Formats: sequence, structure tokens, C-alpha cells
Amino acid sequence: MSNSEEAFAEAKKVIPGGVNSPARAFSAVDNEPIFIEAGKGSKVYDIEDNEYLDYVGSWGPMILGYNHPQIVESLQGQVKKGTSFGAPTQVETELAELIIDAVDSIAKVRMVNSGTEATMSALRLARGYTGRDKIVKLEGCYHGHGDSLLVEAGSGVTTLGISGSSGVPNDIASETIVAPYNDLEALEKIFNKYQDEIAAVILEPVTGNMGVIEPHDEYLENLRKMTADNDILLIFDEVMTGFRLSYGGAQELYEVEPDITTLGKIIGGGLPVGAYGGKKEIMEYVAPEGPVYQAGTLSGNPLAMKAGAETLKLLKQSDVYASLEEKGAYLAEGFRNNIESLGIKAQISRVGSMFSIFFTDTEVVDYQTAQTSNTDVFAAYFNQMLKQGIYLPPSQFEANFISNAHTEDELKATIEANYLALKKVKK
Ligand code: PLP
Repeated sequence: MSNSEEAFAEAKKVIPGGVNSPARAFSAVDNEPIFIEAGKGSKVYDIEDNEYLDYVGSWGPMILGYNHPQIVESLQGQVKKGTSFGAPTQVETELAELIIDAVDSIAKVRMVNSGTEATMSALRLARGYTGRDKIVKLEGCYHGHGDSLLVEAGSGVTTLGISGSSGVPNDIASETIVAPYNDLEALEKIFNKYQDEIAAVILEPVTGNMGVIEPHDEYLENLRKMTADNDILLIFDEVMTGFRLSYGGAQELYEVEPDITTLGKIIGGGLPVGAYGGKKEIMEYVAPEGPVYQAGTLSGNPLAMKAGAETLKLLKQSDVYASLEEKGAYLAEGFRNNIESLGIKAQISRVGSMFSIFFTDTEVVDYQTAQTSNTDVFAAYFNQMLKQGIYLPPSQFEANFISNAHTEDELKATIEANYLALKKVKK
């Protein structure tokens, strides 16, 4: 038994499934998780000191790589002052200002502790503001595990093949209407039927949780127009794409402004954070300014705020997004050449530093087409990459992340490993 196998057996005795978030369990790839001891730059190290080149990036936050010295230093400084006070600190305002400065559609922002809390709170705000109860979400988008949003969700729910609704009261699930991604006609029909009942449409503007899928040309612009015409709020869940696809997120890249944005991952620099923000008149509905209640003992936690603020300052100073685009394009081209030369039924889908390999020859544009992927081939591919020391998200339906710490040589080595792995899984 390896050390990780022993650690997993031990963990399973005391933690459901041995993990604190289902996607970590490796169940979709017929394997067992690696227990991590440390990370540095683009690499993680397991408890046996094996080194892996990493494309998980803690599922998105580690855009600057693991253990960035400046972030570590700022955390050390804060630890000495104290880790939590439950009272206002200036670093909360600093992070809020950085976010507002970066994201044009956000005039005010409230910090919470996770992406799940951010989307749950954003829905409550949308319902409180509009006085309507129904929410439209898009099939295969994942917005955390709040009751209203765990309907036809992607990510771990899709990976495990479970409905996602066990434990969610029917009365709550029935207020969520599900439409396909990239399909405006379907939305129009829903709007016509429920027009005066819908508070908001929430979506991942670029999806990551059914694998990376790009919005069709003008999809987001038209969605913006349709929601505004019907007095329905538009919520962009940028927990994954915020500060990832550009400094101003997907909304900056596609030049579409939502009413409310949810954030997480990168804005916590690797510590637990979420946030929701938007137009001033909407955010004024949040308590104590307004009637929509939302609170948190550890919200705006100074350690998390420090890590987040330091991360955003580093991202703002450098030309990291141009470099991430270059790295993404280089890796995707290498993978595409491998797929072509080996004649594999697969495609690479990429936006900036987020990418997925779908094992299907059907063009992937939504949840249904993503589902045509051969998950057995993915599992075999994943394990072949792991054997070569490359650590990928253990599911077909997740995004891979490139960080600023990945070097050209490492990307080249990844392309070579990808060739060998694809060759092995070719039927
Ligand atoms: N929204 C999106 C787009 C996500 O990708 C995630 C997590 O992966 C969430 C919300 C939930 O965030 P958290 O896991 O921090 O609760």
C-alpha cells in the first residue's frame, strides 16, 4: 500500500468518502486520491514526496502558482496581528476597492466565505430586489451546492452521475427553471411563459463545470438584452472566470455587463472567500442597508482578505493575462496536433488559461453534447497522465487551469506526455 492509499483508508473511516468535497475522490477515474503535502509554483508534492506538474490549481484559485512568496509573506504579517476579529478591518475595504476597480459592473461588493455562499446570497438578493421567486439556471452550470442551484448541475454532480436533488425540497427545486446553455430560443420560450415570475437568470458566462464551453458569438450580448427587456436580472457567476480570463473577468472579455456578479477562488488567493457585487441600487438591498439578510462570523476574514488583495495587486501589476493566453494557445495547439496525428476522437476547448479535452467528435456546445464524451477513455487518459507525473482534474467535466508559474519547458513536457497518453488510450 502506498502512503496515499493508507491515508485514504484512514480518512474514509472518519470523513464521508474520505474527502471534504466529492470531486477529490477520484471515483470517476477508477483510482484513489493522492494526498498532498506541499505545493510550489506549478508543482504539487504528495506525502511520499513524489512531484507532479499540476493543472488543478486548487480548482482555480492558484493563478500565480502555489506558495507565491509575496502572498506567503503578507499572510505571515497578518497572522502575527491576528486571524479573526469579527469587526471591520481596513483590508476588507482594500479588497473591495480592488474588485470594484477591476469589474465595471460592480459598484458595491459583499464578502462571504465560499462561491456557494456567494451564489446563494446573490439569488436571495435578486429575489428580494425583484419580488419574484423563480430562477433560471442553465443545464450543466455549477454554482455551488445551495438548494436552488443544485438542479441539473455540472461538476461533481455530473461526475458522480447523481441527480443532485436528494435532500433538496421539491418546493425549492420547482422554483428553478433549467434551460440549455447557448440556446436563446429555449430561454425566450421560458421568458414568455413565466415572464413576471422570474427574478434572475444565472449562468457561468464561460462554463468550466461541464468542461470548458465558450459562449456562441453574441450569446451573452443577446442574453443581456433579453433579460433587460423582461426586467429580469442577469447574474454572471464568475467564481471561476473572475480574474481568470482577464483582470475584469469574462464580462470584460466579452464586453457584457451583468446586474450581479459572484466571485470566489482567485479573490481569496487560496484561502476561503466568495463575494457578490453589482449595481449600487441592487446592493443597497443588502442588510444592514436594506432588507435582504446575509451575514457571516468569518466573512471578510483578514487572512483571506490579505491573500486575496495581494493576489489581485500582483495580477494588476503584471502582463499575466497576455502570457496566460500565450501559454494556453501553445498547449492547446500541441494537444490538437497530437489528437490529429493519432486520429483520436477528441477535441480541445479553451478560453485563456482554462481548457478541457472532450473525448467525442460531436461539437461540444452545451451539456447534452458534453455528455457524448467517452468517460472511460477520459479515465484511462487521466491515469496515463498521472503515471507521467501530470496531475489533472479527475473528471471529464471539469476545467484544467494553467498558472503563471508554468514554464515553456513544462508546457512542452505536458504536450509530450499528452501524446504518449493519447497513444496508449487509442482503441
Ligand atoms: N460557481 C462556480 C462557477 C464554481 O466553479 C464553483 C466551484 O467550483 C462555485 C460556484 C462554488 O464555489 P465553492 O466551491 O467555493 O463553494
